[in-house]
Amino acid sequence: MAELLKVDADRLWSTLAASAKIGTHKTGLRRLALSDEDKAMRDQFVAWARQSDYAVKVDKIGNIYVRREGSDPSLPPVVMGSHLDTTIEGGRFDGILGVLGGLEVLRSLDDAGIETKRAIEVIDFTDEEGSRFSMSMVGSLTYTGATELEDVYELTDKDGKKLGDELERIGYKGDEPLGERTFDAFIELHIEQAPELDEENLDIGLIVGSYNIRGYRVMFEGETAHIGPTPMDRRHNALTGAGYMIGKVNDIGLKYAATNGKTTCAKIDVWPNIYGILPSEVELTIDYRHADMETLAQMKAELDAALVESCTRAQVTSRITKTWKFGDDGFDPELCDMMRAIVPGITERHKEMLGQAGHDAYSMASFGVPTVMIFTPCIDGITHNTAEDVDWERTIPGLNLMLNLVEQRANRPAP
Ligand SMILES: [Zn+2]
Repeated sequence: MAELLKVDADRLWSTLAASAKIGTHKTGLRRLALSDEDKAMRDQFVAWARQSDYAVKVDKIGNIYVRREGSDPSLPPVVMGSHLDTTIEGGRFDGILGVLGGLEVLRSLDDAGIETKRAIEVIDFTDEEGSRFSMSMVGSLTYTGATELEDVYELTDKDGKKLGDELERIGYKGDEPLGERTFDAFIELHIEQAPELDEENLDIGLIVGSYNIRGYRVMFEGETAHIGPTPMDRRHNALTGAGYMIGKVNDIGLKYAATNGKTTCAKIDVWPNIYGILPSEVELTIDYRHADMETLAQMKAELDAALVESCTRAQVTSRITKTWKFGDDGFDPELCDMMRAIVPGITERHKEMLGQAGHDAYSMASFGVPTVMIFTPCIDGITHNTAEDVDWERTIPGLNLMLNLVEQRANRPAP
């Protein structure tokens, strides 16, 4: 077997340390999309790319493409990517490891003097986290056309600032068109964001597919009234309907927990949200996930029944205002096989898994790009939290897997 390539772990650590100084918050990061901190990080990423003579392009939604040219520029590139933005209480690795790890892959190929047939690119996707404009995976979903660019520009943050204006303000409203690139492959390395790898003392998760993920928004509709004089039996409190539902949603998740089913309510908007008035409108977001499609349908049937019961009990009505799904498009079998072939040369401590969180990789997969993901462990599975941390020794094997996968893919014979 040919000698496997290795990334420069120390250099990558200092790259991550520099990133951790931009938007530092407690022991982690607060680098909300299109904020001054996001701009500073983007500028740093672009500066690093230019130092190594990589080409930099920015598209209309602000995704940044860093390209190390191949010997045949006519072939579609092999692409790595993730996100440099964080949540409001974010960690130093979520998303960031995938982008800066991608940069390290390019640098390691330079060090080794390796020219690849296909170009290799690294993408920083705009606003993956959705912590500011209430939509996640903005960059990848807009790129693929799953959402309209003009609609996305109109999204506002809590201060009423528009996403499009903020993109322009920080200087990252680029002119590269969306949806027109061809990708030979897309590879996203990400921390696991769950405790499985850490607890099982494994270093790499080969992500060969995803949970089926569904979400929807329910609008509960009642009537405003005075909270004092209005008799209990004559109330149409939309918040009460949502309240009953929130409890039931969690109960359904608990019922399916043994097979790792998940249900979540994490966002609610109440109107008029005033102490003395019964709320007439409440919008609630419901998310449910399972690896097995039949079980997922069963969970949905129970959620539907729970919604009817909740509304009846609260004397309110409801309607679904938006639905979404992702994770159904499987990952590429050929890329999975390439990972399986490389990984034994790196570590014995690996296993195959299904992804459970939303990632830009799913947007790429649904766009028809051959896609795969690599997970590295994070300590106790803590993430979306400033205490997010990794064991560096156990992170590097995943990066070495990405390096070798990218190199082999980029050098495979042209079809
Ligand atoms: Zn992430």
